[in-house]
Amino acid sequence: MATATATRTRSVKMLADGAVRITISGRETSYWLDRCEGDYGDYRCYRLTKHSDDSLPGKVTVYYCQVDANNLRAVSCECPAHAYRGHREPCKHCGAILALLRAGKLS
Ligand SMILES: [Zn+2]
Repeated sequence: MATATATRTRSVKMLADGAVRITISGRETSYWLDRCEGDYGDYRCYRLTKHSDDSLPGKVTVYYCQVDANNLRAVSCECPAHAYRGHREPCKHCGAILALLRAGKLS
């Protein structure tokens, strides 16, 4: 039986030089991805720095994400989507990190 599902499609791709590209319904956003301080047990911290936006020169957007690497679930992110909907589904930042962890592409 068919069930209603979200129509947005998400994908994440590891690029060269430690960058990742998150695509949501055809819209691509690229970030630099690195680990940062603050690991606690199975919780790992990552920093996503958005590639510069030509329409906003000089603006740097950084999100600090924390995921539970053992249970593969989002713990925290600073973006509004996590604040509003993080209890139901991971935001795109945590979702991308979880997808890469699941695929064995991230440590
Ligand atoms: Zn987020």
